[in-house]
Amino acid sequence: MADIIQLLPESIANQIAAGEVIQRPASVVKEMMENAIDAKASKIVLILKDSGKTHIQVTDNGMGMSETDARMSLERHATSKIKEAKDLFTISTMGFRGEALASIASIAHIEIKTRRQEDELGTQLIVHGSKLISQEYCQTHVGTTIVVKNLFYNVPARRKFLKKDTTELHHIMEEFKHVAIIHPEIRFQLIHNDNELFHLPEGNLRQRLVGIFGKSLNENLVPIDEETEIVTIEGYIAKPQYSKKTRGDQFLFVNNRFIKSGYLNHAIRNGYDNLLNEDEHAFYAMNLTIDPSKIDINIHPTKQEIKFEDERLIYNIIRVTIKHALAKYSIAPSLDFDQDLSFSKVYNETGSRSETNQSNGGHSDSDTIIRRKPGKAEIENWQEIYDQLSIDNTGDNSLILPSKASLLPEDEDEGNPNLKSAPYQIHNGYIISQIRSGFIMIDQHYAHERIMYERYLTALVGKQIAVQQLLFPSTVELPMDKAVTIMELLPDLLKMGLKVESFGGQTFIIQGVPVGMENQSFQVLLEKVVGQFQENIDLQIGVQESLALSMAGVGSIKKGKKLAVEEMQHLIDELFATENPYTSPKGKKCFITFELNEIENKF
Ligand code: ADP
Ligand code: MG
Repeated sequence: MADIIQLLPESIANQIAAGEVIQRPASVVKEMMENAIDAKASKIVLILKDSGKTHIQVTDNGMGMSETDARMSLERHATSKIKEAKDLFTISTMGFRGEALASIASIAHIEIKTRRQEDELGTQLIVHGSKLISQEYCQTHVGTTIVVKNLFYNVPARRKFLKKDTTELHHIMEEFKHVAIIHPEIRFQLIHNDNELFHLPEGNLRQRLVGIFGKSLNENLVPIDEETEIVTIEGYIAKPQYSKKTRGDQFLFVNNRFIKSGYLNHAIRNGYDNLLNEDEHAFYAMNLTIDPSKIDINIHPTKQEIKFEDERLIYNIIRVTIKHALAKYSIAPSLDFDQDLSFSKVYNETGSRSETNQSNGGHSDSDTIIRRKPGKAEIENWQEIYDQLSIDNTGDNSLILPSKASLLPEDEDEGNPNLKSAPYQIHNGYIISQIRSGFIMIDQHYAHERIMYERYLTALVGKQIAVQQLLFPSTVELPMDKAVTIMELLPDLLKMGLKVESFGGQTFIIQGVPVGMENQSFQVLLEKVVGQFQENIDLQIGVQESLALSMAGVGSIKKGKKLAVEEMQHLIDELFATENPYTSPKGKKCFITFELNEIENKF
């Protein structure tokens, strides 16, 4: 039999590589913006059509390419950034794999115009699916313009996999922010379907952050600037009052590269101590500068993960740095002795101590501690926190659940009406209600979230919802990415009783809100609803479910609210009238059951 193994044609190899590197329009944006940075551009313009599905254009004023380099740039493993293996350990550029342009060219229509300062004429290349269509000299500015059209035109499966325009645009804006935040010295512009979404002049980091997130951030920024032997930390965190219910605006960079690290995020959170509520997330934008030989940047192109040689030490330095910064800006009260009685050692310090100074007389900050909150089960492991936050935490659904009827509050005993017991609230957060076989303890927040979620879902299919018309319509200014997202949501929000109208640009007018939501800041309300919606984007649920989830999250009764007996009664009735009273829409238990016989056994 003849030999059967063949080398794949280059164009197919590229397409396979593209499957890994280029997952969606945002990946193209990331790669092309990073190339512009590597080319030392001081101005980068990103122009998109249809959320990048049909047109992505990046123009830079960087160093440009020679004619030969322009051709070479589309070959796989062709890079100007490293020459030999040892260069891998001293990488100072964003790219180095020489794979991105080749991948993009294999699955799109790509046009490159580029010119170096020293060349009189530039080069224009047109390539369709790895195939060179034309190469000519052209008149063009110094720098490079690359246009990527019809992404995935020859990979229908990928094309179909793309999400709605809002989703893809959201991902693009995230990538854009990652690049723009860490390069405030570069001027950026982002134009989508002829609307200018961002215009960020060159400036410092504070100006850049305010340019992206809005003026309200300015007064809330707390600078971070800490230098130790192993790491330098610079950037800003926001005061606790600026924290959000959604986890979006957290930007951590290592050596100017955006990374995601649940572990370090937890260190930051820990630095805030108990200044953040459990469901709040701090804003931060920080860069860690660290000897590249002490870290391992995952070589995988799309993963933003990183390994540190001395993770625990870095954890501690970050935590202490945040704590000090907050204390310095007198946001964190200095530790009081009573509170500190229940410290527990969780992480054993490894390695040397950080250089950071102690400012809390007596209480050694570099001790690795997580404070126990009185009366709360302690989460000693950050991983657990993350697992708990995960949305598909619905494992309990597989258990055999008690029937709804058996859980309803005990009916009046015919013979003896005094036996009916009123529900009782404890710690302004839990409702105790007697049932025939014992009692249940209801989490008022999760229970109400379930009720509201189902109510909003039915509102979306036409069931009326009570609306509070505002006597004085309220004007709200949203950050650009939220303003873009909300435009597509307005009709659905209206059905759910949130009457919002666009007033042009980033301004919106709220005319009415669902009853129960009238007593809060509408600015915060709208930001939260859109923020939570954006967070839900990656969950495999529909737009309407996601929106109902956001509204329920924002509009539901929180822990800490005192409830009257009738309110509790009402909440219980409504809970058990829902389709799934057992769990909140995010999979938390709404109540726990205590059986009489179990209780008896305990005595
Ligand atoms: P990498 O960035 O990993 O080197 P790419 O495929 O992204 O790989 O780019 C290949 C090469 O093309 C780069 O090494 C660089 O020399 C050149 N190149 C790409 N984009 C630009 C640009 N905007 N300006 C100048 N050169 C560029
Ligand atoms: Mg690159």
